[in-house]
Amino acid sequence: MKYKLKTILLKIIALFFPVTCSLCGDDLHSLSKTSICNKCKESLPLIKGLVCQKCGLPLCDGGEFCRECRKHSKEYNFDKMRSVYLYKDLARRLILKFKYSNRSFLARDLGLAMNKTLRQYNFYNDSDFVIPVPLNILRRIKRGYNQAELLAEEISLITNIPLLKNVLFRKKITKPQFKLSKVERSKNIKDSFFVKNDVIIKNKTILLIDDIATTSITVSSCSLALKTTGAKKVYVLTLARD
Ligand SMILES: [Zn+2]
Ligand SMILES: [Zn+2]
Repeated sequence: MKYKLKTILLKIIALFFPVTCSLCGDDLHSLSKTSICNKCKESLPLIKGLVCQKCGLPLCDGGEFCRECRKHSKEYNFDKMRSVYLYKDLARRLILKFKYSNRSFLARDLGLAMNKTLRQYNFYNDSDFVIPVPLNILRRIKRGYNQAELLAEEISLITNIPLLKNVLFRKKITKPQFKLSKVERSKNIKDSFFVKNDVIIKNKTILLIDDIATTSITVSSCSLALKTTGAKKVYVLTLARD
């Protein structure tokens, strides 16, 4: 009886606040716990099959490493990275909504998708702490939330790996990025992270979370900051990548 009453109440609420898919706008079941319909979920460009052992780039021809990782094996400071989706088509639209349209509630669905990828790779089992890629404070205030932090919170909840929010920080950027050349920009990013309270990460394995890895410079720079202050290993998981 109690359940029935709840169902009826929820149905009445749904009349006033219809639940719709965040991507296509189709109606979702009024009791739906997800914000994305199944049709859209299935159309997301999921990364599957063979990937580079280091950076997770899909490799259609197989092999152990992608060309970049073969050529510059020391280029990335993380130990391994994997991503759920390719940053294109529907995944791009979804992430832009998550980032800029005040749809922070999407973190739940996206966190679940990331957890699926997490469970596909055994190395993630060694993670001692979850750490999100930080935003600089001004951007954080402007947007109201850090999307990487929301994803990290979800993952920590699902996996029970403790979340650390007071370790990795981003400096205030003094020069606007768009005024810099590509080389300057990458140097600027490299210098923009720092670690506080480093005792807690000494000899620990970190699971670093970000929403998108476009060039991987950001996650690599975070990994460098974490490792130079004592972290043993850094495994990266991002929602999407180029
Ligand atoms: Zn949909
Ligand atoms: Zn690679």
